[in-house]
Amino acid sequence: MKPIYDLSLSDLENYLSENGIKPFHGKQIFRWLYHKRIDNFEMMSDLSKKLIEQLKNDFEIRALKIRDMQISKDGTRKYLFELTDGALVESVLMIFEYGYSACLSSQVGCNMGCSFCASGLLKKQRDLSAGEIVSQALMIQKDLDREEKRLGNIVVMGTGEPFDNYDNVMKAMNIINDPYGLEIGARHISISTCGLIPGINRFAKENLQYNLAISLHAPNDELRSSLMPVNKAYPLKELMEALKNYSELNNRRLTFEYLLLRDVNDQPEHADQIARLLKGMNAYINLIPYNPVSEKDFKTSSDENALRFYDLLKKRNIAVTLRQKKGDDIDAACGQLRANHIQ
Ligand code: SAH
Repeated sequence: MKPIYDLSLSDLENYLSENGIKPFHGKQIFRWLYHKRIDNFEMMSDLSKKLIEQLKNDFEIRALKIRDMQISKDGTRKYLFELTDGALVESVLMIFEYGYSACLSSQVGCNMGCSFCASGLLKKQRDLSAGEIVSQALMIQKDLDREEKRLGNIVVMGTGEPFDNYDNVMKAMNIINDPYGLEIGARHISISTCGLIPGINRFAKENLQYNLAISLHAPNDELRSSLMPVNKAYPLKELMEALKNYSELNNRRLTFEYLLLRDVNDQPEHADQIARLLKGMNAYINLIPYNPVSEKDFKTSSDENALRFYDLLKKRNIAVTLRQKKGDDIDAACGQLRANHIQ
């Protein structure tokens, strides 16, 4: 039996056609799954008994189990979900002025090995299926349903590297974006990569409206390679070329994420280097306070240094934002809740 959340609407319509069933039932089924958010085929009251029987034979509706949930003072919620094979994944719900945003995981563990990150403490066990990615958003929406609130934004910035699980992530976003699915606008979906160039090149050609975010974290190869091993395979010059190519093919503004690591990457020289790197690009840089991870020695920049850094970039006409901290009183650093459960 196949998990039904793995199917995009066109997959489902193809399945129906192949079985001699009118494909328009696909939209009805999607509405039950993602608009009414029921997890029982029997309740799909506008389908025939025969079709319900067939769906029950071929598919299962696999809800995720909530193993733990933490709520922070600012309303941030961190969920620990258990998958059918017992693997654990984290998702986070954040509340912004513009609405509710869910941060989803794309893999169980991560192989990118960034030196500051808690996710890499546990190596990748496997990719998440499309359905497991969709289900994180669906579970969070179901939680919000109790307050009649709507999830409006998705960021794929949880555990894992989305472009190391390209097909499943894209299918999941398709289901989340579908008007009969979770109906979240493409421009409200962001995918963050540490810089896997083949994935960026592939994404550039798809002409999708999702936002692309790049974890930069260092403006020169020496520092970046020391923090992010991926930089050894895909150094900055090649990365920037791939991103310029993306910008030429897509009229979308790029986001660069830049973690502020005290005394590591927050000096004036780094601001200078960033300004040179991003000059003329349709992009902005988001400065992010580092969420301390107990196993790592990194600290976040002082407020003073963070503001100085921000001002230096502004002065050089780089579009820059300084992100506020969310949920730092709970295990909100990527992978932290999960790591704490496994240890
Ligand atoms: N692999 C992808 C997406 C997951 S990580 C990527 O690298 O972009 C999402 C973002 O969180 C990345 O920018 C990552 O560098 C950052 N991050 C990792 N550990 C963090 C921490 N302790 N505090 C704040 N941000 C962190």
